[in-house]
Amino acid sequence: MASDIKKAIEKIKKEAEEMIKEIKELDSLERIRVQFLGRKSDLIGILKQLKDMAEEEKKSIGPLANRVRQDVFTLIQKKKNQIELEKDLEEEWIDVTLPGKEKYSGHQHIITKVQRDIENIFTFMGFEIADGPEMENEWYNFSALNVPADHPARDMQDTFWIKQKIKENNGQETRILPRTQTSNVQVRFMESHKPPFKIIVPGRVYRNEATDAVHEHTFNQFEALVVGKDVSVANFKHIAKIFFSEFFGKDLEIRIRPSYFPFTEPSFEFDISCTVCGGKGCKSCKQTGWLEIGGSGMVNQQVFENAGYKRNEWQGFAWGFGIERLAMMKYKIDDIRLFMSGDLRFIKQF
Ligand SMILES: [Zn+2]
Repeated sequence: MASDIKKAIEKIKKEAEEMIKEIKELDSLERIRVQFLGRKSDLIGILKQLKDMAEEEKKSIGPLANRVRQDVFTLIQKKKNQIELEKDLEEEWIDVTLPGKEKYSGHQHIITKVQRDIENIFTFMGFEIADGPEMENEWYNFSALNVPADHPARDMQDTFWIKQKIKENNGQETRILPRTQTSNVQVRFMESHKPPFKIIVPGRVYRNEATDAVHEHTFNQFEALVVGKDVSVANFKHIAKIFFSEFFGKDLEIRIRPSYFPFTEPSFEFDISCTVCGGKGCKSCKQTGWLEIGGSGMVNQQVFENAGYKRNEWQGFAWGFGIERLAMMKYKIDDIRLFMSGDLRFIKQF
């Protein structure tokens, strides 16, 4: 009899060991614990019967049953620790071979970058950076610059006029507008500064314009103004040559052609040698070897007078140019509307 019970106990132990080995979850482990060590389990049943057994049987079966109960309990505890540890490791597992998550940090907008480039080139040549109001009155934006009262630039089609008029210090009413050009700063600056000086005025301007790939209602310009006793067209050509060569990173030539603007006399359009082909002729320059850049000229003496200077006492040149246009040429951007589109796919490229 005793040997049968002993066999049964050994069998329980073997069964328990095999089942515990296969367990992978705590729930199933608990079921195993109840099955082998619970109050209704075979092993506990045997232990309960001990008291009714003969002394001889008790001595041989008791220690064996107790040892197996202890062994099974220990196995279950070890298994439990192992499952918990594996779970922890799984949760905290880090795959060091995965590529890192790139942190995206903001950067300067392409227009800001180009404007800084322009400012750096000019300040290197001794220019100062001047600033002025974006909301301007008619005098500084047009009249002081010798733009006639009936000039088409003052038209509703070209300018965003503000409905409300404001009173000037002299009591006169004046129309106001978001400035159409950075030239509004010319007379403002001259009123408070005595020549000689060299300034550039970068800033935002507004035009009442139908937008397309090359026209935008809000864009940026920079104005260059140099005034002194003997400033000449040759000075302009030299400074323009240095500026454009520095900006595009290659040696460029300047060509000027006669033109007309109310604020300059003489006035001229200027071209630079093609930044793509270097002057040999290509699609970008329509085979001419030259790119039209913008308008410029010697400051009209009337403008000096409007600023309070004596006529023919000073000479100077002025030149305004679109920053977007320069960015488009340098970075081969084919639509001016992209700059203010807010499209990150565009912005992130620069
Ligand atoms: Zn070309």
